[in-house]
Amino acid sequence: MREELRELAAYSVEEPDLPVRLHANESPYNLGKEVIEEISRALLAIDYNRYPDPECMRVRNLLAERLELETGQILFGNGSDELIQMIIMAFGGHNSRVIYPFPAFSMYRNIALAMGEKVAPVFLDGKFELDLPAMKREVAADSSITFISYPNNPTGNCFNEEAIEEVIKVSGGIVVIDEAYYDYSGKTFLKKLKHYPNLIILRTFSKIGLASLRLGILISSKEIVDIMNRVRLPYNIGTMASTAAEISIRHAGSLEESVSNVIKERKRVCAALRKMDGIEPFRTDSNFILFRAGRADMIFERLIEKGVLVRDLNSEGPLRNCLRVTIGKPQENDAFIDALTGIVHQKE
Ligand code: PMP
Repeated sequence: MREELRELAAYSVEEPDLPVRLHANESPYNLGKEVIEEISRALLAIDYNRYPDPECMRVRNLLAERLELETGQILFGNGSDELIQMIIMAFGGHNSRVIYPFPAFSMYRNIALAMGEKVAPVFLDGKFELDLPAMKREVAADSSITFISYPNNPTGNCFNEEAIEEVIKVSGGIVVIDEAYYDYSGKTFLKKLKHYPNLIILRTFSKIGLASLRLGILISSKEIVDIMNRVRLPYNIGTMASTAAEISIRHAGSLEESVSNVIKERKRVCAALRKMDGIEPFRTDSNFILFRAGRADMIFERLIEKGVLVRDLNSEGPLRNCLRVTIGKPQENDAFIDALTGIVHQKE
């Protein structure tokens, strides 16, 4: 075993089988029936004996057209997780460091460590905003890879845009803006790509109703995509996933409707949390809400007893007593709000 792996654990989320599952930042809405039927028909026509299109051209072309980009600026991964790994593979090494604000999406650290990279977490301030001077100090080194999740998981907020742009400007290496939750924030660095040759944007199909596909999107300059292609494994996207993705993109209206339902519900759940004694929800631009609760461990267990699964993030440091709830369908959110209200009141 490689020495680096001694400190690491497998990525596993405890998943008791509960009726209300608000722990994984998925969309609560499946695709519409007619979209599923169209995908099923297309799946009947696949040559299952053949390898997929290695370049995934049809979906890349379609997406390029929708985003007004060139096809050569887009690359797919088996989830954006795979793209994070490929970025570190392509741009790491040579005493570089992987930098990310903390708390952040855990895979930046895990993948970096697994690949033998050094990591440099930079603590967010008390309001979960970037500590700009500290970030600038870290990224100034010649070769570094900086991951900024925008909005940030698990805190939920988009960091200040100007501060991020400062980081991109002073960085001596690659800066990755991970827009996994873009559809819920509407904020993007896409238009800034042409100004910064060191900028990579990540998106994913996972948060808008297509988590089962495992399809992540990398958007950057053609030069960077060309470099990334050197580390990409052949045929990393299966024909079934790309077929389903293509049809789903053609029916983007139904995905957008799910997103706007979630955004509406987010407002309602935030308002309900704000009214509860001892519960402090943080500002969110995502499809989830981070909140601090007096006794998070007890509340997490009691929610499970009531059939509601959220994400337990309670640990020493900035996430002390914090839980994260994904926005679900209205009735799931009601179940969460009722359960939590009951627990909070019983406690008093
Ligand atoms: N980036 C962020 C910020 C995430 O929260 C997640 C999912 N938890 C990912 C990337 C990975 O998404 P995917 O399913 O595309 O691998």
